[in-house]
Amino acid sequence: MSQHPINIGGLVMNRLMGSIGDVVSQLKQRALSSMELCEAALQRQDSVARLHPFITCTSDVARESASLSQKRYGSGENRGPLDGIPVAVKDNFCTSGIQTTCGSVMLQNYVPTYSATVVKRLQKAGAVIVGKTNLDEFGMGSGTIDSTFGPSKNIYRSGIKYDLLLSNREPDGLDSRFPTAAVEDEDWYVAGGSSGGSAVSVASGSTFLALGSDTGGSVRNPASYCGVVGLKPSYGLVSRCGLISLVNSMDVPGLFGRYVDDVAAMLSVVSGLDPQDATTVPSDLQSLQLPENPSLEGLVIGIPKEYHCPGMKKEVIDTWTKVADLMENCGAQVREVSLPHTKYSIICYSVLNPCEVASNFTRYTGVFYGHRVESSHSMEAMYALTRSAGLNDVVKGRILAGNYFLLKENKNRYFKQALKVRRLISQDFDKVWSSGVDLLLTPVTLSTAVRYSEFNNVDNRTQQATQDFCTQAANMAGVPAVNIPISLNTEGLPISLQLMAPWGQDAALLSAAKWIEQHVNFPRLQVLE
Ligand code: GLN
Repeated sequence: MSQHPINIGGLVMNRLMGSIGDVVSQLKQRALSSMELCEAALQRQDSVARLHPFITCTSDVARESASLSQKRYGSGENRGPLDGIPVAVKDNFCTSGIQTTCGSVMLQNYVPTYSATVVKRLQKAGAVIVGKTNLDEFGMGSGTIDSTFGPSKNIYRSGIKYDLLLSNREPDGLDSRFPTAAVEDEDWYVAGGSSGGSAVSVASGSTFLALGSDTGGSVRNPASYCGVVGLKPSYGLVSRCGLISLVNSMDVPGLFGRYVDDVAAMLSVVSGLDPQDATTVPSDLQSLQLPENPSLEGLVIGIPKEYHCPGMKKEVIDTWTKVADLMENCGAQVREVSLPHTKYSIICYSVLNPCEVASNFTRYTGVFYGHRVESSHSMEAMYALTRSAGLNDVVKGRILAGNYFLLKENKNRYFKQALKVRRLISQDFDKVWSSGVDLLLTPVTLSTAVRYSEFNNVDNRTQQATQDFCTQAANMAGVPAVNIPISLNTEGLPISLQLMAPWGQDAALLSAAKWIEQHVNFPRLQVLE
C-alpha cells in the first residue's frame, strides 16, 4: 500500500483514509478503538496545521465523546450509525459551549449556549466532533482567504507529504503519473471556499466527514478544488437551525466526505423535519443505503449547453465530455438541454445575496453578540464603531449594497426584479425535469484550484463570481447538487464535476454520484506525515 514504515500508529493513520463502512466494521470487531481513532485524527490535525483547516481544535470534547463511544462498542449497546467517527464542523454552526466565530472579529469571542440541530444529530449518532473549521468571514467568498484568522491552504502541492493511491478501495500501488511535490516559491493553491477549512480537513484525513454551508457554492467549490465529495442537499431537507444566517432563502448545511457512501451515511443522520426550522420537510432518508453497484440503466442525463461558459478551461470541458460519454456508453441516455436564464444567475445572486445580508446583519450591533467597541458619545456611535471594527470589507460592502438595493426608491428596480429572475431560473430547472431529464451533469468550477497570487486581487476577493457560475443556480432553485472528484490534471490538481437533481431526489443523485465514483477511479490522496 504505502511505502512508509507500518506501525500501529501508522495503521490507525491509514484507516483515517478508509471509508466509514470499513472503519465501523473495524471498530465493531475491536480491531480499532474509538479512542485510537480520535487520537489519530487529532494527531493528523496537528501534522497538517500549517494548512490551517481548523480555527478551533475541540480535543477535550472529542476525547470525551470518543471514550463514551468506546464504552458503547464494549457493551454493544445503543450505538449510533456514526459511532466513533471523527467529524469537523464549519465555524458558522453553533456549538454549545464551544467558540463559534464565523471567521470574524465580530464573533471571535462568541460562545453559543446551544448547538445547531445538525450538530446535535451528529452527536446523537455517536460522531466525535474534532474541531471547528475555517471559512471566509460569515461564508462570504470562494477561497477561504478572507477569514480573520488567516487563509486555509489547499493540500495539493502544499509541501505536506502524500501518496496518490491508484484505486480507491483496493490500493494496489502508487499513482506516480502526477506531481505531488510542493510548488516553487511557496505560492500555494487556494482551498476554495467559503467552506475551505472543512474541505481540507477531509482531504487531509483529519476527519472523515465535515459540515459546511452552501449559499452559492461554498461546499461544492472547495470540494472541487480539494478533491473530495461535497453535497448541497435539497433546500429544506436539512435544518438550518443554529447555522448562522447568510442568505436564509438559499443557505443549506452541506456535507463533505471522501466517499459518496460516507456522505450518504451523514445525510441519513442529519436530514429531516426540525420543529425549530419551519422550512424543513420530513425525510425518508433516515436509513438511506446506496446500492452496492448503482446502475445508470434508464436514466436520462441532461447536459445544459449554457454551462459552457466563457473562461472555462479546456481540461474541465474535456473531463465533462469524457464522463458524459462514459455514462452514455454504460446505459444512460445523454442529451443536450437548455437552461436559458443561467447567464443571469450571477447578477441575480449579486442583488439577492446582499439584500438578505443587509437584513441579517442588523443583529450585529455590539449589544447582543460578541464584539463591542464602546463609545462615550451615543448608542449609534457604539453601533458604528462596533460594526466598523468587527466586520471585514467584503461583509461591509455587501451590507452597503444590500441597503442600497432595498431603498424605497430602488426596491422595485433591483430586489423585486431579481426575485422575478430567480423565479425564471428556477422554472428553467422545472421545465428540464418535466421533459424527462433525471439528472444534470455540469462542471463545478471553471478551472482547477488557482494560486493565491492569482486569486488575491481586489476584483476577485469580493466574490470570485465567475468561479460560482455553475453552482449558484442550484441554490436559487433549491435543488440538490453534488461535487464528484474525477481526475487530476498534469499539475496534479483535482478536476471535479457536478450532478444536479430535482428537488427531493437526493438519494437518486447520490446513487448516480456513486456510479461515477466507481467508474472514474480518482487517485486517492494519502497523507504520510
Ligand atoms: N461565493 C459566494 C458568495 O461569496 C457563495 C458563498 C457561499 O455559498 N456561502 O456569496
